[in-house]
Amino acid sequence: MVGSPLLRELMRLIDQTGALPLDRYMEIALSDPTHGYYTTRDPLGLAGGGLSGGGLSGGGLTGGADEKGEKKGGDFITAPEISQVFGELLGLWAVNCWQAMGAPNTLHLVELGPGRGTLMRDALRAALTVPDFIKAVQIDLVEISPVLQKRQKQTLQTLEKLSGFAKPIKWHKNITTLPDAPCIIFANEFFDALPIKQFIRNADNDAQNNEWKEKKIAHENGKLIYQFDATDNPPDVSLYPKINAEQIVEQCPAASAIMHTLGTHLAANDGVLLAIDYGYSAPAVGDSFQALEKHQSVDPLTRPGCADLTAHVNFAQLAKDACEAGLNASPIITQRDLLLALGADYRFKTLMDNASKTQQIELAAARNRLLEPDQMGVLFKALALFSKNLKQPAGFEQNHD
Ligand code: SAH
Repeated sequence: MVGSPLLRELMRLIDQTGALPLDRYMEIALSDPTHGYYTTRDPLGLAGGGLSGGGLSGGGLTGGADEKGEKKGGDFITAPEISQVFGELLGLWAVNCWQAMGAPNTLHLVELGPGRGTLMRDALRAALTVPDFIKAVQIDLVEISPVLQKRQKQTLQTLEKLSGFAKPIKWHKNITTLPDAPCIIFANEFFDALPIKQFIRNADNDAQNNEWKEKKIAHENGKLIYQFDATDNPPDVSLYPKINAEQIVEQCPAASAIMHTLGTHLAANDGVLLAIDYGYSAPAVGDSFQALEKHQSVDPLTRPGCADLTAHVNFAQLAKDACEAGLNASPIITQRDLLLALGADYRFKTLMDNASKTQQIELAAARNRLLEPDQMGVLFKALALFSKNLKQPAGFEQNHD
């Protein structure tokens, strides 16, 4: 397959307006209303392990694969699709945070970019053990994709039938319509989907040379290409100890804007945001912009709108933005440390004790995928940002370094 409908539109746009900054390219490729990647499809794959259907009742195993027994599909896979344990642990974590907040009568449990709604479903299933929490909870989902919004409705429809769960789920196109009330916010693999800018330094910063060039997208001979143009808006590199000539620095203005807005919101209303994503704890240089199609790494410029585009999340920057907005930040820890601290191995063991041989093999594979350092365990980081009246949330109390 050569090109994509969006490729031709982008070339026309570049002819009209000049080369596009990388973040503008990423924004169009991911969220163009007609041809954008997220707006037109359900990109998530499945890990398999489908057993008894994905309902909300019971404390046992739920389905992972769909009705056709599909095992992979999609372009990428995320932690909640790998194992129900991920969402369950976060659900109990949310209950614990709510209790630490003084168990308010209304709690908005918010998810940014909820994918198929799997994390929220599993979280609520685990939280059913605490009826007062279920009574208090109002679900708010922030989702840009109409296709995924529909998918989330399907996944969560059984929720509405639960006794005690009285408040209908609300969807938001962006964070500006979230209510002024206590919130617990999940963001799993959300920040990596936000558009980034890339800059390259002309000379070592030791030399006091503050000249930067910004990466842009142009086209040549029917193909999109990268070019670096001089810029009057250099990146904020205050978190970086040293940047040498020719090194690339990435910035995510969209993430900073969201953190400032949500940070102010949480500081005023009480609450916590939990971000889990792949990325780096200390600011790092280098190009992490990448594209995935059908679980394969592909050229990010070849088929805009058809491949998932992401970049590593700069967790130190997220923490800085949130603190500027008036929140406290937890240490940045690995997904492995967080899930183990929340009892992942106990939960996997309970499930395994009640599973068939085949299911046990699948559970062990899912456990390793989430936790092992050579899989998602260490590349993925977790950060909690919380209002100043709260203590360090569960799982983050000790610095695991
Ligand atoms: N959290 C889910 C899905 C991760 S994929 C999981 O872990 O499985 C990224 C999700 O963010 C998708 O639901 C996508 O549609 C959504 N998304 C991407 N950019 C967005 C934006 N700017 N605003 C709201 N949602 C967005």
